[in-house]
Amino acid sequence: MSIFVNRVLNMKHIKVIGFDMDHTLVEYHTEQFEELTFHTSVKKLIEDKEYPNEIKKFNFDFNRAIRGLIVDKVNGNILKVSLYNKIKHTYHGTKELNHKQQLRIYKGSTVDLSDPQYTSIDTAFSIAHTILFAQLVDLKDKRPDLELPEYATLADDVTYAVDIAHRDGSLKSAVAEDLERFVIKSSKTVEVLERFKKYEKRLWIITNSDYKYTKLLLDYTINPYLKEHKRWEDLFELTITLSAKPRFFTDKMPYLRVDPNTAMMENFDAKVEGGIFQGGYATKLQTDYNLNGDEILYLGDHIYGDIVKLKKSCGWRTALIIEELNTEVLAYKGTKDISVEIDTLMEQKLTIEKQIDHLYAKEHEFGEDVNKKEVFAKFDEVEVIDKKIAKLIKSYESNFNPYWGEVMRAGVEPSVYASQIERYACIYMSKISDFEDYSPRTYYRPNRRKIAHEH
Ligand code: IMP
Ligand code: MG
Repeated sequence: MSIFVNRVLNMKHIKVIGFDMDHTLVEYHTEQFEELTFHTSVKKLIEDKEYPNEIKKFNFDFNRAIRGLIVDKVNGNILKVSLYNKIKHTYHGTKELNHKQQLRIYKGSTVDLSDPQYTSIDTAFSIAHTILFAQLVDLKDKRPDLELPEYATLADDVTYAVDIAHRDGSLKSAVAEDLERFVIKSSKTVEVLERFKKYEKRLWIITNSDYKYTKLLLDYTINPYLKEHKRWEDLFELTITLSAKPRFFTDKMPYLRVDPNTAMMENFDAKVEGGIFQGGYATKLQTDYNLNGDEILYLGDHIYGDIVKLKKSCGWRTALIIEELNTEVLAYKGTKDISVEIDTLMEQKLTIEKQIDHLYAKEHEFGEDVNKKEVFAKFDEVEVIDKKIAKLIKSYESNFNPYWGEVMRAGVEPSVYASQIERYACIYMSKISDFEDYSPRTYYRPNRRKIAHEH
């Protein structure tokens, strides 16, 4: 698949390519992993937060959430929001709300996303969280006798449960027991990485995962396909584990050196010149390696933690991995005919609207008598077209997620997620192996962006 370009990026100028690990260097079978997260978190809610056993009956439906959605903790809603913060689609729990219901709650149609009542699905790791929250909201509404807490507390409890599941080893030990079920192996990714090395790019890993898990996944996904290196440790000159991104890009945390033979750690204050570390911070890397921010390209899947924060605080070049992109682009291509039909109907509608304007002009500007029947007939024609368009839009959206439609669009506008991508990701792609069709010397150039008057 292609690599998409928002900003000029000259790879000849890039000296270091840094990689996030989970969902970037290592691809997951996301649906399986999120299902595991979902059921593990349900257990945590029952065991640690005394939630009722009823929640054991919850079913995991992966389609119920997509990346970029906004969760309104206070009202128990999930929203699809456009780049202008306009709400385009709302579910209360798993129930779809119509425009009137939405207006009643939000008093207008925009939301202030800086308000802490809103959180966004920034990574594939947040899908299970949102699906579980939505089902708890349904249960609270349906069963007042269970005396479940307020929606916002439900959301916080789910955050707690998912967080613990990630941190206490519940998820990671399940992955370790059945790597094939959860983790994708890609020989092409390894090919691409070794090719970068041939062009003297230095490769780094900066991951929030711990050393043990990092080693487990990289031994499994990278080592079997290496042709010019013995082990992934030879391919990557620097590996930073438990990096605590996004704080890695903003704060100054101590570096610990990891001994790969014993996994023991010791304080490290010297110059970083390669090896395996835990913690640390980004600016020290720039100083120790004598690099400008724009000589480092970092690839990650977390729009906020890997991309937005990094771009704002360090000025490194950025590449976003969006695993849904492949499906999204295919669906987009498959709906070309429907889009053409919608455009044709829109043109017909515009023509009739102009005719209506003309009739009104006759009456208001030239004092002529206008046959009201003629005007009403025109309005009826518009209504018929609107119905046809609405049907086509439904059929268009059904090619994407059945509940939410496209990831990148909210109505005719880009989604708030797409607008962050445009702003902060220099390039984006569905997976690292997409580099296979591009030379490591590529000069990525964006298409000329059209401004409204240029269309
Ligand atoms: P990275 O994408 O390589 O930086 O690593 C992401 C790490 O964060 C993985 O080890 C995940 O298990 C972990 N992770 C994801 N979501 C959460 C969470 O909500 N709480 C704690 N850890 C998380
Ligand atoms: Mg990641």
